[in-house]
Amino acid sequence: MSEREAFELTPKGENFSRWFDEVLFKAEILDERYPVKGMYVWLPFGYELMENVMNVMERLMRQTGHKRVYFPGVVPEGVLSREFRFIKGFEDSIYWITRLGKQEIREKLALRPTSEAIMYEVLNRWITSYKDLPLRIYQIVPVYRYETKATRPMLRVREIVFFKEGHTFHATYEDAVKQVELEVWIYKKFYEELLVPYVVVKTTPWDTFPGAKYNYDLITIMPDGKALELGSAINFGDLFARTYGLEYMDENGQKRNVNTTSFGISERSLAALIAIHGDDRGLKLPPKLAPIQIVVVPIPSKGYEEKVLEYAKEVYNALAGDYRVELDDTDERPGYKFFKWEMKGVPVRIEVGRKEYEERTLTLFRRDKMERSLVPFDDLGSRIESLFGEIEEEMRRQTREYFEKRTVHAETVEEIRENVGEKIVSFPWCGLEECGHEVEEEIGYGILGYEENALEGRGEKCVICGREAKHRAWIGRSY
Ligand SMILES: [Zn+2]
Repeated sequence: MSEREAFELTPKGENFSRWFDEVLFKAEILDERYPVKGMYVWLPFGYELMENVMNVMERLMRQTGHKRVYFPGVVPEGVLSREFRFIKGFEDSIYWITRLGKQEIREKLALRPTSEAIMYEVLNRWITSYKDLPLRIYQIVPVYRYETKATRPMLRVREIVFFKEGHTFHATYEDAVKQVELEVWIYKKFYEELLVPYVVVKTTPWDTFPGAKYNYDLITIMPDGKALELGSAINFGDLFARTYGLEYMDENGQKRNVNTTSFGISERSLAALIAIHGDDRGLKLPPKLAPIQIVVVPIPSKGYEEKVLEYAKEVYNALAGDYRVELDDTDERPGYKFFKWEMKGVPVRIEVGRKEYEERTLTLFRRDKMERSLVPFDDLGSRIESLFGEIEEEMRRQTREYFEKRTVHAETVEEIRENVGEKIVSFPWCGLEECGHEVEEEIGYGILGYEENALEGRGEKCVICGREAKHRAWIGRSY
């Protein structure tokens, strides 16, 4: 097999879905060969990348007063079943433990499908007084859902490995409203650091989490034109309080229901980053998140093998204290190494050959633009710093361009129909349920959500009834 073939990918524009599977495997993110459908092995490189992504969220959650906890991974049927009342079909998606060793079990246990029930069962003992509120906690755990649709690595899985979920508890509904605003702020910051474009929408009343007051979703668009939900911030009001007896005593000795919210991210966030930024050579990673930020590749030429390698080591040592650097001094040919590190999305490659050794210079290659430049050894540190900034800026620019290309604002049902499928389409909506349903029926897809009052004062007309439309609604295919 030639060097090129070992790292060849199906062109992303030709078949995104195949490209995505191939890049996850060839860049050593996941191994899909585990014999349980919908569950995947995370490889060291992929795990490290996901950790870097999680650390961004970790920082934001801590900054805003959320504390990490751990609750067990199994839940008795009796505790969980109270949730069945308002979530239709939930029971069918659960992994049940029905035996303990050789014994049939008395009460079935579920493998954590969500954490609300598990947490609330104990929290009604933690929270007794208004002094215990607000309470903001989060955990990072796997959750299990028996997904019946075709599974896809990272996008539709049966074991969500990196579920980082925040749960919050408040004395009043107004406090919960403010919390949800904070959660949306956290999401925005998070996806801005990931360089993933998004739109924040409120879900339509008929699509809101059953029993919840409302929720905001962040959605992005994948290269195949389908919308991907990146996260939800849900205001449950006192729904769970009523179900699980979460009450507290207020300042006047009155018993009141606790208001709760939840939000979270998973490996889907990384899936979006990979899908949006990757190209036909593999991953393209922002310098801040790349497990390896710089790779140094010596290019030996006859008679200069030792000297070139020594120089490459000097370069490596100069950078190793400040950056995540790798010196690739393996026996593979330089061409093979280039393809390999391009596949893994390393933002900067430093090529060191005889010429560089003799001139005491370095050739820098940037993965985002596939461009080379020459820099004197003495300028290396400052050049890398500014180069990382330039790469991030360029990736941000590409992100905006990417998003604009795949979204459009329509003013009529006809315009929606012309664009939907390849793009996700926004349109003016008056907010009436019957108009929303009519659009969904006409177009054949569900409304993804709407930007509340985004069109206020703009004089746009609802695509169905022609009345003034305050909201910008979004519609399209979705994952
Ligand atoms: Zn209308």
